[in-house]
Amino acid sequence: MAAERYLALGYCVIPLRGKVPTITWSTYQRRKPSLNELRRWARCGLLRNIGIVCGEVSGNLVVLDFDDLAVYETFIRRFPDLAQTYTVATGGGGRHAYLQAGLLPPSRRRQGVELRGNGLQVVAPPSVHPNSTPYQVLHSLDVLQVPNLEELARWVRPAAGPKPDISAPAAGANPSLTAAIALHFQALGYRRRGDWLNGPCIYPQRHAHDDSRISFGFNTCSGYGNCFRCGSMLAKDIARVLGIDPSSYGGIAPHSYRRDTDEQQFVCNPFT
Ligand SMILES: [Zn+2]
Repeated sequence: MAAERYLALGYCVIPLRGKVPTITWSTYQRRKPSLNELRRWARCGLLRNIGIVCGEVSGNLVVLDFDDLAVYETFIRRFPDLAQTYTVATGGGGRHAYLQAGLLPPSRRRQGVELRGNGLQVVAPPSVHPNSTPYQVLHSLDVLQVPNLEELARWVRPAAGPKPDISAPAAGANPSLTAAIALHFQALGYRRRGDWLNGPCIYPQRHAHDDSRISFGFNTCSGYGNCFRCGSMLAKDIARVLGIDPSSYGGIAPHSYRRDTDEQQFVCNPFT
């Protein structure tokens, strides 16, 4: 299967649903999964789509993520040599240009393009975008090896304002609300395992025999929930089901949510 081929090529693969990792993928920013892990993800139905972790773990893989084709065209004119590389047409209508860097530049972005290195992943072919369009190889070339991407990195300037450190725990829901939800689950007898409180799903009606098996986990760091069957859940929805009023705890998110939730680590699976 495709994921095994990527792994054999030296890329660190993670399982996705849509564009979102179905596991806690911070581990896989440091090491590649084993073939057994990969096959287990596939068996468990976690490997719907394939993500490739950029940066050191994939041999200094840098992916230029263009969500604006006009910016991609500018890139081709400005860096014609760099454009002669393995390139993917994304399901969202953008382009992913893959490069292997000698010296890894820091991840950065500006309007229309993001340089993805350490801490970021990309959705890889033959994954299917949530809009049902598959990711397809556009230029079936070798991934270009480039000793130094300094000039390119300067072209992709950092966005205005400091970029959040994505290796830090994700800024999910309001910590006070998260703590209130955690207390509630603890009172219900949910078992702690690391950052997770595991127990029956909060939507038993969605499960064939209620949820006698434990398939739900609440992440006490991020405030997100995850169920094998129902998928990931936001703190605001969990609070509503539990009858907790977020306004009593200062609202749902005192800090604004980042747009690229798919790049963060809080949508994770409690059983890996
Ligand atoms: Zn569920």
